[in-house]
Amino acid sequence: MKLSQRISQSSKSVTMEWNEIVQDIRRQGKEVFNLTSGQLNFRPTPEFIQSLSSQLNFLGSFQYPPVKGLPVLRKKFLEYVEGQRKIDLQVHNGFDCIISNGSKHSLYNAFGSLIDAGDEVIILTPYWVSYPEMINFWGGKSVFVQTYLYDSFSPDINLILEKITDKTKAIIINSPNNPAGVHYDSDWMRSFAEAMKEHPSIYLISDEIYSDIFYYDPAPTYFYQYDESLLSRTLIINGISKSFASTGLRIGYCLAPKDIVDAMAIIQSQTTSGANSLVQRALKDFEFSNLKFFLKQVRSHLRRSSEILREAFRSHDLSHCWYQTSSAFYFMLDFSRTNLYKVFKDRYPEESDLSFKICEDILHKLHIALVPGKPFGLPNSARISLTTEEIPFEDAINKLCEYLTKPHNS
Ligand code: PLP
Repeated sequence: MKLSQRISQSSKSVTMEWNEIVQDIRRQGKEVFNLTSGQLNFRPTPEFIQSLSSQLNFLGSFQYPPVKGLPVLRKKFLEYVEGQRKIDLQVHNGFDCIISNGSKHSLYNAFGSLIDAGDEVIILTPYWVSYPEMINFWGGKSVFVQTYLYDSFSPDINLILEKITDKTKAIIINSPNNPAGVHYDSDWMRSFAEAMKEHPSIYLISDEIYSDIFYYDPAPTYFYQYDESLLSRTLIINGISKSFASTGLRIGYCLAPKDIVDAMAIIQSQTTSGANSLVQRALKDFEFSNLKFFLKQVRSHLRRSSEILREAFRSHDLSHCWYQTSSAFYFMLDFSRTNLYKVFKDRYPEESDLSFKICEDILHKLHIALVPGKPFGLPNSARISLTTEEIPFEDAINKLCEYLTKPHNS
């Protein structure tokens, strides 16, 4: 008996895996500081909860939705993004919207609609762990562009251009970025738009799942706002997981030219049929402007966490490892500039990545869970989530900093 080759070449999401490790430890009755989380610890805004519960009274909430999603909600998402980005989507090749079970599902359908075997997709490093896995699953090849902490993780546009070949099918831009916790600035987006005009056969995938999650101005902007003609080959991915604090409700969407949305609908019709009817119905009746107050609270929580991080790094002489985050939920900790790393490097001189070993050590000795950085394309680092509540977060970060600077404790 043999499983498929495709599955033997795939791996489980490292973020999900480390989150499960935390849950297992907790089930054993042990305390652990969970800094792996990719979700907010808030309940959604009360108006949305109310909208969800009132939909429980309708038969339609329990029945199959249309494959692409409720027409009224698709229109609402289109208009919402148009309003937020101040663009007109209708004039570009007849934009359409397809609603899926989370934006991860939207991305999976999008890659399936675009990629043929051997096609290349350019990804900026650090990247969300699922991109290479999904591209690989559909037979494509990921091509990585390195970015650096000292450039706030914004890559030189020329480095992207150098990676373009006649096999390049798409480029993914994820801003705000998971795991870097920054968004590319308007100059960068303008230059990227300029550069992409010269490559009219490349699709541009804009993963905007954290577009509302920024805690320092200016707000994120997007390349197609600087040159709307790019929209004729742009796929905008978003969803409710992060901005509605509703990761478990599994609703994401893709706005793209109609032929792409139609292709995605073929895959969706043969896999999940459509996305959760109850939640779609609740969203159609929910006034999105009600999110404003909620997002204000979220932003102030994340800003406070980033301040705690800065203070702890400063007071433990780790300022050389620190950079200013501004968006999404995360911070990337570079172990390679700490004393703890030196201890591990002496122990395992041959290994090019020690992120898993160091994170395991930290988990066992300090009961602090971080996600190893290697699967995000940054070896010898770890992702820290800023979503944890203030008091345990501050305790955990101070404990961690102490440990990083005292190698004899390892
Ligand atoms: N894109 C990025 C960059 C993410 O970080 C995530 C989740 O963590 C997703 C997409 C998928 O989100 P969801 O499927 O919950 O909408």
